[in-house]
Amino acid sequence: MRPISYLRAEGTDAVDSALRAVGGDPGSDFLAGGTTEVDLLRQNVLGPRRLVDINRLPLADIEDLPDGGLRIGALARMSEVASSPAVQERFPLVSRALVLGASAQLRHMASMGGNMMQRVRCGYYRDGESPCNKREPGAGCAALAGVSRNHAVLGTSEHCIATHPSDVAVPLVALDARIHTRTLEGEHTYAIDDFFLEPGDAPHREHPLTHGELITAIEVPALPMARRSLYLKVRDRESYEFALVSVAAAIEVRDGKVSGVRIALGGVGTRPWRARRAEDALVGGPATTKSFDLAARAELAVARTTPMNAFKPELARRTLVRALETLTADGSPS
Ligand SMILES: Cc1cc2nc3c(=O)[nH]c(=O)nc-3n(C[C@H](O)[C@H](O)[C@H](O)COP(=O)(O)OP(=O)(O)OC[C@H]3O[C@@H](n4cnc5c(N)ncnc54)[C@H](O)[C@@H]3O)c2cc1C
Repeated sequence: MRPISYLRAEGTDAVDSALRAVGGDPGSDFLAGGTTEVDLLRQNVLGPRRLVDINRLPLADIEDLPDGGLRIGALARMSEVASSPAVQERFPLVSRALVLGASAQLRHMASMGGNMMQRVRCGYYRDGESPCNKREPGAGCAALAGVSRNHAVLGTSEHCIATHPSDVAVPLVALDARIHTRTLEGEHTYAIDDFFLEPGDAPHREHPLTHGELITAIEVPALPMARRSLYLKVRDRESYEFALVSVAAAIEVRDGKVSGVRIALGGVGTRPWRARRAEDALVGGPATTKSFDLAARAELAVARTTPMNAFKPELARRTLVRALETLTADGSPS
């Protein structure tokens, strides 16, 4: 048994005391809902000697921004964000991605900041013993020749093919969200594109944060066309399951032509995958099934599969086409 100490950051100085406690000690981790941290601690994948509970920090509000965007506190729970009227009305793709993630109990516990920092679901990473470059740099990757049905086909490297697991990060990538953080030195803002890293030859680096850097909020800029948007998730069973493929999409059509579009894919990338090739192929062209199909093919042309996940590009193509057809059909998105 490994002893772990516990510190609750609270009081008027709570944010600074949490920053001091974790920033000054490589053996300390932040604890929010604990739904990732405690799991991985039990499995000997993470080994903090101290947990610093941040649940009493004043970072749980969902605030309106003057331009119509939202600032979502890092400690807002997934369920609160999903049911927020402002999120449902302005960013239905965000609300839907949250509702389709995990289970009701988990969504009540899990925080938005913790969701951004959740770890991959690769069985070889999580068993705590198999060779895994993410867990132990240089150890090798057991997934490459192992069970890889759920693994990524975009953004992979010869060192790691683990899929990024977050649902809500997918619409946040499509919406060009920003991640606000704090350290004892001050505040920092990351464009979400810079926040999730591809594995390359350093799969253990999943984001650019330094140890002890605290996510304080996620900012979602206004995007009027997102009022008509969706998140479509395909998985092996209807609930309590990670995506095989998911699509977050918003599209604006004028006179039959695509005047604006945002697309991101989940379940297929080593990071929540912004489908820029598909977006570029669509803008200015006709909003037809044929062009949706060509755009999806353009995006997925660079997919690299294993024998077990070779079905994913085709599943992603079909899901993307269906998402865009649904959004451009009369009536509301399903
Ligand atoms: C059975 C199960 C099924 C799930 N299914 C899904 C699913 O379908 N879709 C999906 O998207 N997710 C799913 N999840 C993952 C879940 O959404 C995450 O575990 C959760 O969002 C993490 O939030 P938390 O507050 O519990 O984080 P914690 O477990 O407390 O923390 C996670 C990590 O983030 C760090 N951290 C936490 N908050 C901050 C902060 N503010 N700043 C910096 N670092 C921080 C912690 O130190 C820790 O390393 C599932 C989880 C489980 C256990």
